[in-house]
Amino acid sequence: MSAIKYQRILLKLSGEALMGSGDFGIDPAMLRRLAADIGELVAAGVQVGLVIGGGNIFRGAGLAEGGLDRVRGDQMGMLATVMNALAMQDALEKAGIAASTLSAIPMDSVCDSYSKRRAMQLLEAGQVALFAAGTGNPFFTTDSAASLRAIEIQAQLLIKATKVNGIYSADPMQVADARFYPSLSYDQVLAEKLAVMDTAAIVLCRDQGLPLQVMNIQEPKAILRAVQGEAVGSLVHSGA
Ligand code: UDP
Repeated sequence: MSAIKYQRILLKLSGEALMGSGDFGIDPAMLRRLAADIGELVAAGVQVGLVIGGGNIFRGAGLAEGGLDRVRGDQMGMLATVMNALAMQDALEKAGIAASTLSAIPMDSVCDSYSKRRAMQLLEAGQVALFAAGTGNPFFTTDSAASLRAIEIQAQLLIKATKVNGIYSADPMQVADARFYPSLSYDQVLAEKLAVMDTAAIVLCRDQGLPLQVMNIQEPKAILRAVQGEAVGSLVHSGA
């Protein structure tokens, strides 16, 4: 096996990644597949922090469109991320991979609360650390939570695994001649308003010099290849 380039990473999965072929909730077969992918990283000696979104269950903005108070909707969205994290923790443990969930919203009888200290203890002990409940604040997304936690734990790389092969000039599902960007700067992402992560997350990564690699979750061993330093998907960096 090739040597690893990044010893500690933060992996961001959208809630939709857990749906598999369904259109709501969690597909157990998909959870098992993702757990196996994460297991390969751990076996290679990579310390893995994990942020999972909640869009497969609730998003605050969508609930607000339906008439719910936005803050309450965001709280429901954050709770949805806790459900996803618990499901993933369970799948990881069933695959023999030690994992613990840390929530930004205290819920002591369910999981530990997030603190950087606890996160570092888990990572240094080789456990997968699942960071749940986003940032704990409304009007943010789990992309922002992922960049925030990645910076806190001093991850060397933030990986966003998505449904597309990387970053394009336009949505490749809609625009036939959309251009693929193998490497680009955060300022280019912002200037061209590329749909990579929300602006708050992008600015945080840019200002802290954290590289972001975006890849297709369906591509075999994409995440493992990325931590080995392969140019899989698109790499966003601070430099020009
Ligand atoms: N959320 C929030 N604050 C956070 C993170 C998430 O209020 O720090 C809420 C927000 O309503 C969001 C939902 O949780 O829509 C689910 O997260 P997200 O939309 O990022 O999930 P994903 O699209 O990655 O599945």
